[in-house]
Amino acid sequence: MSRFLHTKYSSLTPYDTSEEVESLKGYLRLNTNESPFPPSNNVIKYAREAARGMNYYSDPECRLLAEKLSSMFGIKPENIVFGNGSDEILNFIFMAFCENGAAFPEITYSFYKILADFHGVDCVRVPLREFRIVPEDYANMNGRTIFIANPNAPTGIALTLAELERIITSNPDSLIVIDEAYVDFGAESAVKFIESYDNVIITRTFSKSRSMAGARLGWCMTNEALARDIRNIKNTLTPYNINAMTQAAGLGALEDDEYTRKNINVICRVRDNTKNRLREMGFEVLDSLTNFLFARHEKISGGKIYSSLRKRRIIIRHFEEISDFNRITIGSPEQMQITLEVLRDIVSHETR
Ligand code: PMP
Repeated sequence: MSRFLHTKYSSLTPYDTSEEVESLKGYLRLNTNESPFPPSNNVIKYAREAARGMNYYSDPECRLLAEKLSSMFGIKPENIVFGNGSDEILNFIFMAFCENGAAFPEITYSFYKILADFHGVDCVRVPLREFRIVPEDYANMNGRTIFIANPNAPTGIALTLAELERIITSNPDSLIVIDEAYVDFGAESAVKFIESYDNVIITRTFSKSRSMAGARLGWCMTNEALARDIRNIKNTLTPYNINAMTQAAGLGALEDDEYTRKNINVICRVRDNTKNRLREMGFEVLDSLTNFLFARHEKISGGKIYSSLRKRRIIIRHFEEISDFNRITIGSPEQMQITLEVLRDIVSHETR
């Protein structure tokens, strides 16, 4: 810490990106839930064309993207706001709407706690029960903004729309943020609730099913009043938050939805097959509706599995605080075949 740093930033706990650095080149990265597939050719074509115009500022409203999503989801373009990744949208939400505090599951996307701490937001962390979010545990959160990743991360388990609706209706004075980063891999979107309730925001991303994690593009869908508040914060801090190449790339992806659907089908098939193979090897694996699996072995610690895979140049995500479990991103069929072979080797060696 330099002597010039504002004291309010003296004890920050940034998001851990240590496993994502350059030095990991040559490793099979199954630790950050990216897509193993490149973006569609359409994405590359549109981004390249947009690069020619980068002497001009990008469109602060991302109008073409908003219109396209508006027709896909049946909501007005002005009810959509874009972020530099959905992480930026989450940041705007923490800034805008958490005066009465926040509430989210004890085990969930770690960024919620990081943002809450950064903004000095008091938060309640609600324990999971057998790795599940129980809607009744969120009854009457007294105006706290409630963050629910659906499906949840890193468990991969999704709530039904009826369960989500119980959280919404039991908290009429709270804002409910439904983070649908992984919804395309089998869960049902709650987007229809933004019509029927005035306290719902849905966040989405191009990072997972649309193979664009490196482009940084996310969005939220909500009602007019909430969208206006978020847009005001965005236009105060970072009016040109989405660069021109990324806006064009996003449009390219939306116009090639068939490519996205095809990749989603492959990921879901490989996920379910990997789950079955892992269970045969003695792993407990939760039923995931995402592009990752959350698993522990009956005899081998999570730390041991993680470090043994790392030695064989495969990186998965180990959580110190949930030490038995690891999160494994679903890669391509070939990558998962290699990973399963290495795991089979590790299990037979460690249980001899
Ligand atoms: N929500 C959840 C649950 C996530 O796992 C992630 C990815 N780490 C994000 C949001 C943020 O994604 P992005 O900023 O890439 O849109």
